[in-house]
Amino acid sequence: MAGSQEPPDERHGVGTYQMLWDCKFCGTQKLLGVTHRHCPNCGAAQDPEQRYFPAEEDMVALEDHPYVGADKICPACQQPNSAASTYCTECGADLATGVVAPTQGVREIGTGRAETDTRRDVVKDKFDAEMARVGVSRPPGRKVLGLSAGAWLAIAVVALLAICIGGAIYALTYRTSAEGTVSALSWERTIAIESFQAVPGSAWEDDVPGDAYGISCKREQRGTRQVPDGSHEECRDTDQGDGSFRRECRTV
Ligand SMILES: [Zn+2]
Ligand SMILES: [Zn+2]
Repeated sequence: MAGSQEPPDERHGVGTYQMLWDCKFCGTQKLLGVTHRHCPNCGAAQDPEQRYFPAEEDMVALEDHPYVGADKICPACQQPNSAASTYCTECGADLATGVVAPTQGVREIGTGRAETDTRRDVVKDKFDAEMARVGVSRPPGRKVLGLSAGAWLAIAVVALLAICIGGAIYALTYRTSAEGTVSALSWERTIAIESFQAVPGSAWEDDVPGDAYGISCKREQRGTRQVPDGSHEECRDTDQGDGSFRRECRTV
């Protein structure tokens, strides 16, 4: 059965799919993680760090893909090799001391679809990490009249505070005199007359006043509550580190 005839707005189901990678040497994009161990365009070796989860429409399924573990990186030539290999297919070096290829971790799909791939700018990320490591910070800001932008900001804040406090003191202490004449006077007095008497009533058991008497109880429906039923499916993709990823879905 061909899986390529699915409508474009459908999500792929459970299965194993190819990660994608871009060749950093010739710029070829969306190469297949398992099929293209080397760039078919320029022959460069696949870099596991350049792998990414594909968008839904770029997903290529793997039939009967034997998973033997995440790739091992050749200690001599950096070529990723199948975990089942003992010697590098590229240079023949012993892979015993090779480190495990980095994976792209897990992508949560939830109930939606993978709208975009997870490609990122690996070169820029590395540059940023290196800059952070060696402690290079942003160049110092421009100076105006020998003071930095921060100092000017502090001066502005202090000046604004001074204006606010001065204004408040003026407003609170301002006095002026004026003459007026009383044109009318009237008064009234209100006396509330209260009386106590028994009041019949009904309420839910926990709302009845403490000093109520002659109480009788009966069962009644107090309210209704809607409980959702049904289920939906959530999926997640896990990078297996060998150029493939697994999509697992569960019904919740
Ligand atoms: Zn290439
Ligand atoms: Zn090698």
